[in-house]
Amino acid sequence: MPLTHDEIERLLGLIGATEQRELNCEECLALVAEFAERQLAGQPVAAGLVAVEQHLAVCGECREEYEALQRTLQEMDD
Ligand SMILES: [Zn+2]
Repeated sequence: MPLTHDEIERLLGLIGATEQRELNCEECLALVAEFAERQLAGQPVAAGLVAVEQHLAVCGECREEYEALQRTLQEMDD
């Protein structure tokens, strides 16, 4: 289920407010599109998105999802 921009911002705020917070897969997948888009746009990684990066480093399932998204975004860019 896609999140609205407001929901994403709120989630990022929540995660960013708590250091060393680990995401579960559900939270990671909710934010991974935002993360991929910002990365592709060369925007700085927001505090809350660092947790996404950390989760992707340890979770192959979410990383696959992220890589698929990245490919889709790059194709849209061409
Ligand atoms: Zn995961």
